[in-house]
Amino acid sequence: MPLPNDPGPWCFYRLGPTKEKELFKRRRDAYDGVIVPAHIASYYSAFCAEFIGSLQKPYLIDPMTYLFAGDTALLKRFVRDRKTGRTIRDTTGRKKKGDLKRSFSKLVEQHYAGLVETVVGEDRPLIPQDFSANTAADELVGRVVEFQTRLLSELPEKYRKYEQYARKQGKPMTGGANPPMCIVPPYFSLGGSDVPAWLEVNVDLLVRTKAKTTLPVFPVILAGPQSLSLNAALFISKYAEAKPDGYLLWVDGFSSDQDVGALAAVFGFVEGLAKSDKPIILLYGDAFSLVLHFAGLSGFGCGICYAERKLSTQDVDVEGMIPPRYYVSLLKKKIQIATEARRIDFSKYPDLRCDCEVCGRKPDPGTLDDTESREHFMLARKREIDALRGGTTRVAFSTALQEAFTKYQTDPLLSPVQHLRNWASVLANE
Ligand SMILES: [Zn+2]
Repeated sequence: MPLPNDPGPWCFYRLGPTKEKELFKRRRDAYDGVIVPAHIASYYSAFCAEFIGSLQKPYLIDPMTYLFAGDTALLKRFVRDRKTGRTIRDTTGRKKKGDLKRSFSKLVEQHYAGLVETVVGEDRPLIPQDFSANTAADELVGRVVEFQTRLLSELPEKYRKYEQYARKQGKPMTGGANPPMCIVPPYFSLGGSDVPAWLEVNVDLLVRTKAKTTLPVFPVILAGPQSLSLNAALFISKYAEAKPDGYLLWVDGFSSDQDVGALAAVFGFVEGLAKSDKPIILLYGDAFSLVLHFAGLSGFGCGICYAERKLSTQDVDVEGMIPPRYYVSLLKKKIQIATEARRIDFSKYPDLRCDCEVCGRKPDPGTLDDTESREHFMLARKREIDALRGGTTRVAFSTALQEAFTKYQTDPLLSPVQHLRNWASVLANE
């Protein structure tokens, strides 16, 4: 499927290892597209192909290549004690790691192979010099492009009838194939010590990717707020030279409760990048992404009520059991249901009340279960996005944030809400 048709901001949900299939299907109209991590796409390829085929929404596959240049422990599974099932710790108290995670072995051995398989075998991270050989870089790009183009693009048999239907309606679909909305070149962090060398590598991989596909190419720019702010002009001009069709931005470890300096750095970077007039999609973003709409952000992704921030040095897929949380739209924050929401008498806060279908059925957020709280999140987010699409102005958005801050800053049950004032001040700084 091509890029979303609707105006921004686009909402993407990331497919995780959690049981969310039904939510993705039932609330198909509450989001614009799906992001599938490469290792999930390869490990559960049959499931993902069917699932993505049935959704008929724009999607992209995140190649996850940054992991191969990071701490090799990130790719390894924890070692568990056979009797207790507990993770074994070494003498320094660090959780012990064993061999390659099963979810990555298929990706490494069957799909990426070559250079990636070599460094995994040597138990070392990729370094910029690994890409100095033309053939190694070209082979990796070829494999990453092939993987994203083919893996989930075969429409399962039972959905072929939709294809015929779509054709009769005059909607273009290419030969039963359901290609991703864009191809993502292999990418690596621009936040470490060797920023210039990795920048060269990333841009080179982008150029090579463009040469290998006719689909739109969106590189990932991965760096923390500080690196983005220091190198903004350099990053923006270097990537622009390679003429990508759009950008994916991953602000490493960034979340909206950080200080005004970090918020302003991210806002400024998006603003600068948006001058290119290309779509910009944040790979991981929380409600601050709504603020970034006013900087020119086209869309943002996250898990359904989780993974709204991500540190590239963090272990993948070990979010663990996240206690169910309730998203309070007016305050742009989540509260834990078991510990926080149950203490609040929401009937005393009429302006916090949500009139989505879930909350209509169960008006007390303290009674929502995990699936219900996620479904509420999707519907509440949809409403926020619709308001922006309807033309909420920068001033009106900022005023609403400031008013919510003033009203709730001293409420013992709902504070802290300092982020609201910070966001408003970022919007006020023209
Ligand atoms: Zn609701």
